[in-house]
Amino acid sequence: MSLKRTIFIANWKMNGIPDDIKEINKVAVFLQKKLKNYNKDIIYCPPASLLAYFFKNNFSKIVKFGSQDVSITKTPLGAFTGLLSSKILKLSGAEYVIIGHSEKRASGDTFKNIKEKIFLASKENLKIIFCIGESFNDKKKNKSINVLIKQIKNSISKKINLKNIIFAYEPIWSIGTGLVPDTEYLQKVFSFLNSFLRKNYSIKSPVILYGGSVNASNIKNLKIINHCSGYLVGGASLKAKNFIEIIKNYYN
Ligand code: PEP
Repeated sequence: MSLKRTIFIANWKMNGIPDDIKEINKVAVFLQKKLKNYNKDIIYCPPASLLAYFFKNNFSKIVKFGSQDVSITKTPLGAFTGLLSSKILKLSGAEYVIIGHSEKRASGDTFKNIKEKIFLASKENLKIIFCIGESFNDKKKNKSINVLIKQIKNSISKKINLKNIIFAYEPIWSIGTGLVPDTEYLQKVFSFLNSFLRKNYSIKSPVILYGGSVNASNIKNLKIINHCSGYLVGGASLKAKNFIEIIKNYYN
């Protein structure tokens, strides 16, 4: 049984309707009954339209909420059709925000955008779940570490509160594919990230998560990775039953 703080983040992507609050409540009941004394953070990132509704309905207050993205708007409110500022997200119940997810990078998020989003979200005191990860091609060419360094260096300014950053290592080739890197590869990446962030950013205990096809069976191998503080879970977080199974198997 692990006593270290472990983070489980549910990224619902473009899934979820108001009625799905029942899935979150089932998880909250499980956490309260079975894992009350563990040092864990459970964070749900539903579509932004559901944030305030879920936040208000969250009877037990034992899960936290985050947004899947944030806009680059320097003013908190204004004439920006379709955009959501850090302020609006925060007032809607978000404590966290995912920035740099590969699906957002694929649809146009640049290094410059990502850096600005991180800066603005950090100013609003949102905790940032900063996603990094290599493509299959990068991996094949032995370029994974270089890609990760480039993503970090181009996005994280030393001026922000680095304590607000959670790094999520998500190999692009692993997201939604059922493919998970082997233990040796993962250990190499996590050890590298841990020492790189300590050395170059003076982060005492970097918080680094793994994301990509996490499920109830592979969590048994993923939990042995050193310097891994938790998991970002997509598909397997939508139904309470699957998400609970992952958390249960982590602690068993
Ligand atoms: C994700 O997209 O952040 C993710 C981890 O997805 P999945 O678990 O479905 O691979």
